[in-house]
Amino acid sequence: MSFIPYSCQNIDASDIAAVTDTLNSAYLTQGPAVPAFENAFATRHQARHAIAVANATAGLHIACLALGVGPGSRVWTSPNSFIASANCALYCGAKVDFVDIDPVTRNMSLQALEQKLTQAAKNNTLPAVVIPVDFAGLPCDLKQMRELADRYHFSIIEDASHAIGAEYLGKPTGSAYADITVFSMHAVKIITTAEGGVITTQDDALAKKLRLLRSQGITRESADLQYNPEGPWVYEQQLLGFNYRLTDIQAALGSSQLRKLDAWLQRRTQLADRYDELLAGLPLKIPARLSDRRSSWHLYAVELDSEATRRSRCEVYMGMQDAQIGVNVHYIPIHTQPYYRALGFAEGDFPNAERYYSRAISIPLFPSLTDTQQEYVASTLRTLLSI
Ligand SMILES: *Cc1c(COP(=O)(O)O)cnc(C)c1O
Repeated sequence: MSFIPYSCQNIDASDIAAVTDTLNSAYLTQGPAVPAFENAFATRHQARHAIAVANATAGLHIACLALGVGPGSRVWTSPNSFIASANCALYCGAKVDFVDIDPVTRNMSLQALEQKLTQAAKNNTLPAVVIPVDFAGLPCDLKQMRELADRYHFSIIEDASHAIGAEYLGKPTGSAYADITVFSMHAVKIITTAEGGVITTQDDALAKKLRLLRSQGITRESADLQYNPEGPWVYEQQLLGFNYRLTDIQAALGSSQLRKLDAWLQRRTQLADRYDELLAGLPLKIPARLSDRRSSWHLYAVELDSEATRRSRCEVYMGMQDAQIGVNVHYIPIHTQPYYRALGFAEGDFPNAERYYSRAISIPLFPSLTDTQQEYVASTLRTLLSI
């Protein structure tokens, strides 16, 4: 059997045609493909605004800035995430802290958040922004988080990098509860533009600010100009922005990918259901199912039961790789990275995230994974865990 990666993009003839059409068009960037993609994304996610950006990291950065994060601000996120969820706040000069995870959902724990907020209210150290992460595509507890946000006056940036097309309380991710939601279109994510991100918000003023921040702080809209324009060429830089734009080539690919989203989500869900069955009885914990939300199944991460098997996580990882199966580990807790240790964090600070990490392994899950490949993954894992 040839190598099975843990995740894999899906590119077909219609994607290639969309890209080549754009290459042959008048605009490679700043043309009509970007707003067309943004509109399609907003419609699919029932969001008032969608803003395409160069990558989700850039999206998280300007989301923080648009919400006023700066030197002196505090931003809290989940330690069980990719480093970008925390780095975005450091880019703004803010102070980062973490809230431990719920061992069942592997997302930020609501109880831990509430406890930390109660303490922070006493110490006058409340966060300006909290960044929950929809780990593996499972939406976090945003409704209760919104209640806490309103009570303690912080904003919510939902890092939905894993959660394109996920659903919570019957509504698509990116449509409600968070002030701003950020999605990633990196090649391993649910839909891809190679690199890319999308920001959604329901707030007109935030959307306007995000669009400015994405493109050098520049506007050409006559209604938005602060000075009387000398002529039609005039643009104004109104704040210090960046070049965080997505190209038209990528946006055309994004629109083409988006058309396949629902079929892919269906296949991902089917594969996850099959894993649940194929792995039954093994000494490991499978991902939780919650009746009020639907995961986009970006990852299928299991936790080895170290009391019930003599195999270490590293042995299982190496054994799978040796069998040509591309497993991965999500995530090394952010606070244990050397850069974050240098900021004062230490091992032991967020024990649930650390315990989860020490046992976690993500096995292959992507729409083109075949049933036969999946059975091979499951049987290899079964053999490895049988001693
Ligand atoms: C992939 C990812 C990011 C960063 O996305 P990019 O598009 O690569 O910048 C941020 N947060 C999480 C949770 C991710 O998985």
